[in-house]
Amino acid sequence: MLENMWKPIIEIAILWFIIYEIMLFFEGTRAIQVLRGIVILLFAFFLFQRLNFTILDWLFMKLFAISVIAILIIFQPEIRQGLARLGQHHIFSLALQEEELEEMLEKITKAAEGLCKEKNGALIVIQKYDPLTTYIENGVLIDAQVSSELIQTIFTPNNLLHDGGIIIQNGRIASAGSLFPLSQNQDLSRVFGTRHRAALGLTEETDAIVIIVSEERNDMSLVYRGRLYKDLSREELISKTKEFIKLKDV
Ligand code: ATP
Ligand code: MG
Repeated sequence: MLENMWKPIIEIAILWFIIYEIMLFFEGTRAIQVLRGIVILLFAFFLFQRLNFTILDWLFMKLFAISVIAILIIFQPEIRQGLARLGQHHIFSLALQEEELEEMLEKITKAAEGLCKEKNGALIVIQKYDPLTTYIENGVLIDAQVSSELIQTIFTPNNLLHDGGIIIQNGRIASAGSLFPLSQNQDLSRVFGTRHRAALGLTEETDAIVIIVSEERNDMSLVYRGRLYKDLSREELISKTKEFIKLKDV
């Protein structure tokens, strides 16, 4: 009796957890729109079944069989990345102790503030779990300790490395001058140019955290999972970055 009562509750809980994880995983990516489409199709399918619309029912059955294969092909990169992530450990939090993380964020924000004052733009990427090897390799390899002076120097105009972004991996600056895919997001205002689009593009595809210093507006923003947090104060920038680094949204 007791077993009969618990089973559906556990089942619902597991199902809820899976749906929640799927939504979280696809949030901010192009997959979320497709996911919405699938939910609408499923709803229509159940409706047709209920109403005994045999032809539509048959058509939808066929459509579903094909769409499973289509989804596997269309989302092959996302699925591959997701599976790879499942097998990964929490490299970042393991590699960096709380104090080291605080120290690193202090240095990064100090650099960002300095760059704001000097009216220079910057793109600072912090790697989380998704590997950014491709982007590190398309830039110039650096492998240096994080320091606010170095970051500010890199983003000073007229030096060869100031274009593109730097990537911070396991507490070290891995590369500078890295280029990222531009987001195709149609909703983004024209006010934002390629720097912002590159930050959005990267975070739509990976779990990286991107700090932007705008050359035009002299403000600091943060981008995570395809979402832009504009015009942040120093404190907001530190606390939000820390929050996103610690977020276990694998
Ligand atoms: P800002 O607010 O600083 O003006 P923005 O979003 O308006 O930024 P742009 O003015 O187009 O963007 O900034 C151009 C700079 O963005 C380039 O000098 C380069 O450093 C950087 N950038 C452009 N494309 C990419 C890319 N694909 N990946 C990384 N950085 C890029
Ligand atoms: Mg601009």
